[in-house]
Amino acid sequence: MAGPLEYNATLESREDFSDVLSTFRVVPDEPIAPDEARAFVPGQYMTLGLNNDEAPDLGSVRRPMSIASAPHQRETLDFYIRYVSSPASNNPLTHLLWKLKSGDRLYMRNRPAGKFTVEDTIGTNDARTWIYVAAGTGLAPFTSIVFDDAHTNPSGSLARHVVMHGSSYDHELGYRKELESLAQERDLRYLPSVSRPQHCPDWSGASGRVEDFFKAERLADTEQRMQMGEGSLTPDNTAIFICGLNGTIQQTIERLLPRGFIPDNRRIKRALGVEDRPSSIFFEQYDNEPIVDIKNEDEVARLKALLPST
Ligand SMILES: Cc1cc2nc3c(=O)[nH]c(=O)nc-3n(C[C@H](O)[C@H](O)[C@H](O)COP(=O)(O)OP(=O)(O)OC[C@H]3O[C@@H](n4cnc5c(N)ncnc54)[C@H](O)[C@@H]3O)c2cc1C
Repeated sequence: MAGPLEYNATLESREDFSDVLSTFRVVPDEPIAPDEARAFVPGQYMTLGLNNDEAPDLGSVRRPMSIASAPHQRETLDFYIRYVSSPASNNPLTHLLWKLKSGDRLYMRNRPAGKFTVEDTIGTNDARTWIYVAAGTGLAPFTSIVFDDAHTNPSGSLARHVVMHGSSYDHELGYRKELESLAQERDLRYLPSVSRPQHCPDWSGASGRVEDFFKAERLADTEQRMQMGEGSLTPDNTAIFICGLNGTIQQTIERLLPRGFIPDNRRIKRALGVEDRPSSIFFEQYDNEPIVDIKNEDEVARLKALLPST
C-alpha cells in the first residue's frame, strides 16, 4: 500500500463533457521548471495522485496523465481524463479524482516526464506532415503540441498538423471548439470522428472509430480529407503519432503497414524483420495490453505479409 501523499497543487476548475470525461485545470504550489525556457516539452506527462480519505486502508494512488495544455501556460496545467468504469486496481485514481471540486487539493509530481515528443522522435526540423491519431483522452499530448505551435508561431500556418480525434459521441469531442477555430483560421487539418452517430442527431461529420480512417477502402477518402493526393500517405510524406488504448494503436499500425509505415518499437521491428528501416509510427499507450504478441508466429507472419515488398 502506498503511503500518504503530501498535497502540493490545487484543482482550479474542471469542465465535464459527460459523466466520464472531463478536463481538470491544476495549479501547482511551486512553478514547474521556473529556470527553464519551457515548463515542459509538449507531449510529456505529469503524475497526479490522491489519498483515499474515505478508505484510508487503501492508501494513496498516483497515475501518469498527459499534459493537454501548452507550455506557455505556465501557471496552470490542463489534463483531459476519462473515468475508468472497470478499473484494474482496487484504488483507482479516476474514482477519487471525480469527487474533486474547484479548490480541492491534490498531489502533482513537480517534474514533467516522457519522450512522446516531437523532439524525442522525429525532431522538430522534420519537414513531413505530422498526423496525430487520438482515441478519447489520447488527444491530450496533441493539443499540447498544436497549441504550442499556434502560440510560438502566431502568424504561421498549422497545415503541417493533422489531428484525427475519435470519440463515442460528438459532445465528447474535447477541445472541439478550439481545434475547429484553428482549422478555420490557421489551416489546422482537423478530422473528428464519432463512433455512435445514431445517438448524435446533430452530427454530420465522419463516423467510426478513429483508426477506421485507415481502413483500406477509406484511405483515398481520408487522403482527400487531409488535402493529400491519392496514394501519398507514405512515410516519405508523413509521420504518424498515436495515443490511447491498445486497440487504436494496434489497428492503426496494422492498417498502415501496407503503406510501408514502421512502428517505433525495437521488439516489434525485430519480429517483423524491419530493424534497419526508420520508424515512422510513434505511439504512447495508456493501458498495458501488448500491441503485437510477438511470440505468436502466425500473428507475426500475418503482419509481415502486410508489408510492401521492397
Ligand atoms: C504516459 C501515460 C499518460 C496517460 N495520460 C492519460 C490522460 O491524459 N488521460 C487519461 O484519462 N488517462 C491517461 N493515462 C491512463 C492513466 O494513467 C490511468 O491508467 C487511468 O486513468 C486509469 O487509472 P485508474 O487508477 O482510475 O484505474 P486503474 O485501476 O489503474 O485501472 C487501470 C486500467 O484502466 C485502463 N485504462 C487506462 N486508461 C483508460 C482509458 N482512458 N479508458 C479506459 N480504460 C483505461 C487500463 O487498461 C488499465 O487496465 C495515461 C497513461 C500513461 C501510461
